[in-house]
Amino acid sequence: MSSGLRLPQEAAGLGMTSQRARDRMVERLREQGIRDVRVLDVMRTLPRHLFIDEALASRAYEDTALPIGRAQTISQPYVVARMTEALLEFGAPDNVLELGTGSGYQAAVLAMLVKQVSSVERIEELSRMARKRFRKLGLSNIRARFDDGRMGWAEHAPFDAILVTAATEHVDPKLIAQLRPGGVFVAPVGGSEGQRLIRLRWVEDHWQQDDLGAAMFVPLLGGTLG
Ligand code: SAH
Repeated sequence: MSSGLRLPQEAAGLGMTSQRARDRMVERLREQGIRDVRVLDVMRTLPRHLFIDEALASRAYEDTALPIGRAQTISQPYVVARMTEALLEFGAPDNVLELGTGSGYQAAVLAMLVKQVSSVERIEELSRMARKRFRKLGLSNIRARFDDGRMGWAEHAPFDAILVTAATEHVDPKLIAQLRPGGVFVAPVGGSEGQRLIRLRWVEDHWQQDDLGAAMFVPLLGGTLG
C-alpha cells in the first residue's frame, strides 16, 4: 500500500527499475519490527541505489551497510528506519539537524518526512557528492554543509530533532543546547567496547533516555578533510 508519497518531479523515473527490490526491503523492515508507515513508505519510494557507487548498486537493497568511499559507509537500511522512526515517534519535527551526511541517504529519507533538514559532513568529497544527489532528486529542503559538525549548526538552531550518524563516546552538552525544549536527540553512543543507539528527550523536568538497541557506526571525528 502506498500513501501516495512522491518524490519531486526531477526524480521521475529514477527509481523505476528497482521498485521490486525496494518492496522486498520494506517487507524485511516490517518483519524486523519497523511499524511507522511514513518511514516504510519513504524507504519504498527513495532509490537507495543512487546513493552508492554504481559498482555496488546491485546490493543497494540488501540489509547491510556499504562502503561509500573515504573509509565511510552508508548505514544499513534497518538502522536508518529505526533512527527515523525514533525521531518521528512524538510527531514529525519541522527542523532537523543531521551530523554525518555521508552518502546523503538518511538526510534524503528525512527530507521526505520533515520540513527542513540541515546536514553537516566533515569530508568534502562526500558532502559534494551528497549535494549532487539531493539536486538530482529535487530535494530542495536539505541544506548541506562541509564542516566539522561536532558543534552542531548554531545558525539554524534550535532544532526539533538532532540525529547523529557517527558514534560518539559522550553526548556533548553544546549539541544538546541546540535542541528546542521537548526536542529529540538520537545518536549511537559508545567506543570500542560497543555502541548503543540512544534517544534523549526532555520530559517535564528531566532527560528521558531510551535504548534503541546495539549499533555499529564509524566514529565521529574532529576536524575536516578537504
Ligand atoms: N548518514 C550517512 C551515513 C553516515 S557514515 C548516510 O546516510 O549515508 C558517518 C559519516 O559521518 C561519515 O561520512 C563521516 O565522514 C561523518 N563524520 C564523522 N565525524 C564527523 C563530524 N565531526 N562532523 C561531520 N561529519 C562527521
